[in-house]
Amino acid sequence: MSQINRNRNCPVCISASTDKIITVDFELFDGHPMNGGYDVVQCTTCGFVYANTPVTQNELDHYYTELSKYEDKTLSTGGGFTENDKKRLADTAKFISQYITDKSSRIVDLGCSNGGLLKELINLGYNNVVGIDPSSACVTITRQEVGCECHQYSLYDIPNSIGKFDVILSTHVLEHLLDVRSAIEIFDNLLNPDGYVYIECPNAACYKEVIHAPLQEFNAEHINHFTETAFQNLMGAFQFGKITTGDKIFKIASDQDYHAVYGIFKKDNTNTYIQQYDGTIRADIQEYIDKSNIILDEIKRDIAGLPENLPAALYGIGQFSFKLLKTDVFQHGRKFKLFDNNNMNVGKKINGTTILAGKELLAEYKREKFSIVISSLIHEAAIRKNIELLFRENGEVPPVILGFSRLL
Ligand SMILES: [Zn+2]
Repeated sequence: MSQINRNRNCPVCISASTDKIITVDFELFDGHPMNGGYDVVQCTTCGFVYANTPVTQNELDHYYTELSKYEDKTLSTGGGFTENDKKRLADTAKFISQYITDKSSRIVDLGCSNGGLLKELINLGYNNVVGIDPSSACVTITRQEVGCECHQYSLYDIPNSIGKFDVILSTHVLEHLLDVRSAIEIFDNLLNPDGYVYIECPNAACYKEVIHAPLQEFNAEHINHFTETAFQNLMGAFQFGKITTGDKIFKIASDQDYHAVYGIFKKDNTNTYIQQYDGTIRADIQEYIDKSNIILDEIKRDIAGLPENLPAALYGIGQFSFKLLKTDVFQHGRKFKLFDNNNMNVGKKINGTTILAGKELLAEYKREKFSIVISSLIHEAAIRKNIELLFRENGEVPPVILGFSRLL
């Protein structure tokens, strides 16, 4: 990479003074605004870790509306359609209910996805819940599956006519935003006096605890890396007092643990919060990077050991394949093919190569032999089973299928 613009101030404290931690790069869908990668940096003023990307909010908004993967029920999260996801959302609703005792409180979930959290709140007796999401498919699903009021707006264009709320929920949204402080101002404007905000994001202090894929947390979607201290610094700057913060663990599709940091805050105009420097996150992040690199080296060694005369087919196109394609094993001329089961991805191109549907794998293999690399670590077992079945049902012997979840 030649040069990265370093022009994003700290999203928590707006300081421009940063210290570079690592440069990450991806081979994303052709035309994706985040192609070219970014530096992960630490703010030297408050200690916050974030992506110093030159991408603009308009470019990101376009990405989230046009390339949203949340529209496929079987692959997405946030709708409670899988057992692990349903449990996560039910636990979150139960936790929130300990602090919000009035069941008629007007509650909005900003970035409600498929409405799973709202559904669990309704199950607990809350009768005045509203969803907002930028995706029209999510709004339709929420209205159908949850049956509550739901509107299609991006966070930054919610009209005043929507009225005020007693509780604002923002789960797994803030880590995506370029302009985090504007989001908190919007929360502030939407909130009744004495209202509460519940925020939840991946917990950067715990990335090192479970490696979902090497350097997975530094991806094209997650550009802010929150901790309990960062939540307090952010909310404290807008006179939100801390009610509670903490780390929670839930299970994702692979049955691996996932750590999230949560916080409940209440507006308090008398609050005179003094910013604290996050003094432990840098070592936590470095441990995560070191662990990731050990695994990544093994993966690269495995791929380098595949027959050189054959292309490698990546199956399962997501953040990990974007990174793999940028490593030296693919940058030095090895031919590759791309397969995915998600209809949202099929037909898109990466570096000029079109992503084919998983069901086309055998036909393509008959045209030209290749090795297979399962590049979705979360769905590895299911993908392997599907591939083996496809070959066997057609009386063919499957080729070498590399997978890496055993390394995690
Ligand atoms: Zn800062």
